[in-house]
Amino acid sequence: MWTKDSLKKVIQEKLGKDHKLILASNREPYIHEYSGTKLNWSRAISGLTIALDPVMQTCNGIWVAHGSGDGDQAVVDKYDKIKVPPDKPRYTLKRVWLTKEEEDGYYNGYANQALWPLSHIVYQMPSFLPDHWEYYKKVNERFARAILPEVKNQHASVWLQDYHLTLCARYIKEASPDTKVSLFWHIPWPNPEAFRICPQKKEILEGLLANDLLGFHIKYYCDNFMATVKTELEAKVDWEDFSITYKGHKTLVKSFPISVDAEGIAQLASSAAATKRVKNIPQEIDPVYKTMALSIDRVDYTKGIIQKMKAVDRFLEKYPKYVGNFIYLQLGVLSRIRIKAYKQLIDDIQGLAGEINWKYKSGAWYPIVLVNKRIDYLAQISYYRAADLCLVGSLHDGMNLVAKEYIMANTDNRGMLVLSQFTGSARELKDAVLVNPYDLDGFARGIRRAIEMSPQKKREKLKKMKEVIGENNIYYWAGQFINELVKL
Ligand code: UDP
Repeated sequence: MWTKDSLKKVIQEKLGKDHKLILASNREPYIHEYSGTKLNWSRAISGLTIALDPVMQTCNGIWVAHGSGDGDQAVVDKYDKIKVPPDKPRYTLKRVWLTKEEEDGYYNGYANQALWPLSHIVYQMPSFLPDHWEYYKKVNERFARAILPEVKNQHASVWLQDYHLTLCARYIKEASPDTKVSLFWHIPWPNPEAFRICPQKKEILEGLLANDLLGFHIKYYCDNFMATVKTELEAKVDWEDFSITYKGHKTLVKSFPISVDAEGIAQLASSAAATKRVKNIPQEIDPVYKTMALSIDRVDYTKGIIQKMKAVDRFLEKYPKYVGNFIYLQLGVLSRIRIKAYKQLIDDIQGLAGEINWKYKSGAWYPIVLVNKRIDYLAQISYYRAADLCLVGSLHDGMNLVAKEYIMANTDNRGMLVLSQFTGSARELKDAVLVNPYDLDGFARGIRRAIEMSPQKKREKLKKMKEVIGENNIYYWAGQFINELVKL
């Protein structure tokens, strides 16, 4: 099994002690914010940063990211750098500053209103505004300018993250052609028919093909990417060794399913602190219950929160013996709230929860509990352990790490995962109860199946899923990617 130490060894052996790994993402792993006059720091909430932070902690590299906290500028040095984690420094975070207009155009605009819906295909119309595109290009160039001094005269490689930075490799290669640059794409890649509507498709593909290595979660997204390039550009697409040669430059395309710090989660979940917390959870929740279904999602239209609520409604209609004793607890922070579709979603979720609760409410019991606040990591792991089942209803999700976290936190081996078949995780977690979130009857039956599964069967299935996640943990994922990077 891969551990922090084995990853460290691979990095030192393969990349060499003097090699610098420069990672870049939009979201920063640690954020400094004022609360009144007090300056606090916290871990950012995003699958990407949570997965990559333990990796960077093993390799003493530099992480370049947007400094989005109102206290971020107050703590950096003159090079915009700070050592993180703030309480136990292990690597350097270099912050990139954006104006409000740039953040709105590049992040809320092109990244999240064009590329995000374009890639997920969940019937949310992408919007491609010329202004947003101009800001997107400008910010990609800004990231490249922050990265370039770090690679100059150095034995270094660059590892870009996600759909925010599609043009960055091109800018880096223009200034430093010998630097090895790679990108991992954390969301789905759509099929050529969906991608072809993008007015900036040529620039985006050319930007991505400036990378030497491109990683996706699953082979299906690699296939889609290869097919998209074949349709849109005059490039040599080689399906034998999964590479693309465009204008004389070769890009390798490969799948690397991302994961979690499996052992770290299992250890925390079985700690004395978590055991104590688990016992208190029923008192923390308003309605009294016998069975708790839990979901933890950023509030996003791709996560299928509306579909989950409708499935719970259908479940209670079909199986009335659960009325009065089953609850569905939807935890999670609000996200991208400056975007209209997200504001609308928050209203829709609250409206529907109110209607369903009104329909079933009896005495002090009601079925849907919404909590839209940040909870600390120990609390989150304790909630996973306390829940009788976890509902992951994504309409489309590159991977979904919550599913993997839930399984690893299940130290009592008594829970079960109900998992959308449209997540990358469903390819690995075949022992979960797989459902189609658009099929409400099937979803409702899946919830019942998970609850009523025999304890023996649950234990067997959880054991198998833990083995899969344990073997393919986050250190394995990073190790595989770095292995490929070295081969280049
Ligand atoms: N997460 C969290 N608090 C929340 C929602 C999510 O800490 O309110 C974490 C969750 O534990 C997981 C990550 O954020 O580690 C979400 O990753 P996932 O792949 O499931 O979805 P994403 O948000 O990246 O689309």
